Amino acid sequence: MCLLPPSGPNPALYVRTTTIPHEAAHILDSSTRLYKYSSSTEYINAVKADNSLNGEQWPSNYARNSFYDRVTERSEAAFSEDFAESARLYLNPDSPDGVRFRRLFPNRLRFIENLLGSI
Ligand SMILES: [Zn+2]
Repeated sequence: MCLLPPSGPNPALYVRTTTIPHEAAHILDSSTRLYKYSSSTEYINAVKADNSLNGEQWPSNYARNSFYDRVTERSEAAFSEDFAESARLYLNPDSPDGVRFRRLFPNRLRFIENLLGSI
C-alpha cells in the first residue's frame, strides 16, 4: 500500500477524490487475499486487452512507474497500483482523467464495474 500525499491548493479535495478511492481499492484488493483482484487472470487479461486497444497507455504515470518497478521482481503486486489508480479514476467519472479512463480503458472499467457496481 501507499499513501499519496495531499498536494495543490485544496488538500481536502485531493484526499476525497484521490487518496481515499485509491487506498480503498488497495483495501478491497487485499480484503481476503493480498492482491486478490489486481493479480487475477481476469484483471491482467483486461490490462492486456486495453493495451491492444490503446497502444499500451496507462491509467496514470504512477500506475506505469509502479508496474515497471515491481514487474522486474516478478511480484504479485505488479498491477496493484494500476488497479488502485483504475478504481480511483472509475470513481471520479466526471474528472478529465476519469473521462480519459472511460475512453481508453474499457476492459479495466468493465472489471471494476463488475466489482463495485455502476456509478
Ligand atoms: Zn497505491
